[in-house]
Amino acid sequence: MGSYLDARHAGGRWLVRMDDIDPPRVARHADSLILGALETLGLQWDGDVLYQSSRLPAYSGAVDQLHAAGLLYPCACKRREVSRHPYPGTCREQGLQDGPGRSLRLRTTAGVVSFVDDIQGIHHQNVGAETGDFVVRRADGLTAYHLAVVIDDHWQGVTRVVRGADLLTSTAAQLHVQESLGLPTPGYAHLPMIVDAHGRKISKSLGAEAALLKSQPGAVLLSVLRYLGQDPDPGLAGSSVLDILAWATRHWRLEAVPKVRQLQVTSHKL
Ligand SMILES: [Zn+2]
Repeated sequence: MGSYLDARHAGGRWLVRMDDIDPPRVARHADSLILGALETLGLQWDGDVLYQSSRLPAYSGAVDQLHAAGLLYPCACKRREVSRHPYPGTCREQGLQDGPGRSLRLRTTAGVVSFVDDIQGIHHQNVGAETGDFVVRRADGLTAYHLAVVIDDHWQGVTRVVRGADLLTSTAAQLHVQESLGLPTPGYAHLPMIVDAHGRKISKSLGAEAALLKSQPGAVLLSVLRYLGQDPDPGLAGSSVLDILAWATRHWRLEAVPKVRQLQVTSHKL
């Protein structure tokens, strides 16, 4: 909702993309459930939904480009050997051949990357020291999220990324991918995540809320608006989702969004 309002307030387009490049982890019909929920809430997207599973040739083209530039190297480490960050660079200078069962890692450089997040403020991260050289093509041949998301942001002409703060620490790695491919960097704004008393994303523990969403979508929108630090007009109670969104788009104030990474739900209701 925060990204929708931010885009619409600026007169921009709002795009929906399905991150479905990891087949074992993609739940069947998850896409229709997600799109159905957006429609119930009146959150109408622009253009066609982009499925990352349709973009595999573009990802392998980017891998080829990075490889040709000497920025990648094959890694033969087993997953359990490198499960802890940062990757120590075991295979960096081994001159291994690319092949089945080997991942490809992108070389990182030492030094701190700084960027200004439009909600969370200035963020510093040392990708080389904290993450190390990271995988862009997995050993099973699948494209890693950092690469796919950067390629698609550019291809779709995304100028602004507004997403959950759980991805704030992924941003520096994505900036590194952009730089390695010679792509421009969009603006970023990371919204606080709504979590339950155990710190779990509320979107992952939806139960009662799913029913509430169907029966009272307007009430859900008003509740989320309050979490986003907006101050919805009391007269909006009982209004249609489209009226609430029209009001919220006109009055959207990014600067009012709480500058925190998580907001805890205090009661059992959204
Ligand atoms: Zn390795």
